[in-house]
Amino acid sequence: MALHGSLNTDSKSTLAPVVSLARGVEAPDTLRLTTALQTTLDLEQLLRIFSDTVQETVPHQGLTYRNDERRFVLAVGHTGRHHCSYRLNLLGTELGEVAMSRNKRFSEQDLAQVEYLLCTLVYPLRNALHYRDALAAAHRDPLTGIGNRAALEDHLAREVALARRHHQSLSLLVVDIDWFKQVNDRHGHTVGDAVLRSVARVTKELLRGDDLLFRFGGEEFVVLLRGTPQDGAMIVAERIRAAIAAANCICEGKDIKVTVSLGVATLREEDGDRLFDRADHALYEAKQQGRNRVQAAQ
Ligand code: GH3
Ligand code: MG
Ligand code: MG
Repeated sequence: MALHGSLNTDSKSTLAPVVSLARGVEAPDTLRLTTALQTTLDLEQLLRIFSDTVQETVPHQGLTYRNDERRFVLAVGHTGRHHCSYRLNLLGTELGEVAMSRNKRFSEQDLAQVEYLLCTLVYPLRNALHYRDALAAAHRDPLTGIGNRAALEDHLAREVALARRHHQSLSLLVVDIDWFKQVNDRHGHTVGDAVLRSVARVTKELLRGDDLLFRFGGEEFVVLLRGTPQDGAMIVAERIRAAIAAANCICEGKDIKVTVSLGVATLREEDGDRLFDRADHALYEAKQQGRNRVQAAQ
């Protein structure tokens, strides 16, 4: 059975729930819950704390948080047969939907208490969402919309550790636009920026869903290819090179053509920095050999 509700609050206070309980329904201890919810800005941790603390008042097996606008779902615990769910809204802003589930039916009294307790979640949830948005923005390159250098540093360490643990290959490509300074000098920075966006878009369209693309620096990009050995990585690199060479970037009525050079390295017994350095050195060789080419690392 599923029960649905919505919780709109315009309360200015996080301590005083705006839902009042019917006579005879015992008010849960919200102060302890409010204090616990203030200890973190991490969304998953926040929902876990909420679920654990609410457990004492309304036992349940699982709690799910769904945010359609940001396109993610977080689940803690297990799913039961009976559900109750609430859309949360703060001062007119949708905060997503919280659902609790268990195998025993939710009574009217349970639902009243869930609603009462959810009021304490609204502000910490809003703060955790802001924090999540700020973290995402700090890892995104505003010009191209892809991950930036900070995002690469995060992912590289994680991907190297995962590849090691699961005995899988990991390849890294460094992609650098050839003679890019001349594009800026001849056509101006606006055209240069359009070329950067075009190179990012063309590269992204060629990659598989679990490949990762970052803008590492000015006109340098890095691709991480999970589960891809050297020969496969060379094929992807060549595909990128050919696609960029064939692409047209139309900006301010001008048709700009650029090429890229690529360095390719595949993980050995080394850390992420060393893997990157080897690919970067191979890129340097590709430049030395005339540009618009792919070079494998030693
Ligand atoms: P090479 O083939 O050796 O890579 O030559 P290059 O001209 O591409 O390399 P160089 O390092 O000399 O120049 C890179 C240029 O990238 C210089 C800088 O003006 C430009 N650049 C860096 N960031 C941006 C950006 O965000 N927008 C624009 N339009 N240009 C940028
Ligand atoms: Mg360059
Ligand atoms: Mg460069």
